[in-house]
Amino acid sequence: MESSLERMLMEFQIIKKAMHQRFKEKVNLSLENQKLKERLFELENMANNGELEDFKIEVKSSLNALYNDGFHVCNTFYGNRFLNDEECLLCLEMLDR
Ligand SMILES: [Zn+2]
Repeated sequence: MESSLERMLMEFQIIKKAMHQRFKEKVNLSLENQKLKERLFELENMANNGELEDFKIEVKSSLNALYNDGFHVCNTFYGNRFLNDEECLLCLEMLDR
């Protein structure tokens, strides 16, 4: 009887922990979604005001600087450091746009 209660308590703790984790993930996704919506709104405004070209130049310059500092800027490996003096064709294609 006691071990059955202990097992139920343990299972309850596991479920509680999993629910807490899901709740945190949901909150994080909601925040991320809100930030993306705000950013999209800003970009739409910039496009409407003709400011998008300046923004593209700024982004390209930042990506170039990041690449020159030894980080991938491609979608596949973004943010990872180059291991040696390797070149990444994906990064080069990204910077060429
Ligand atoms: Zn890359």
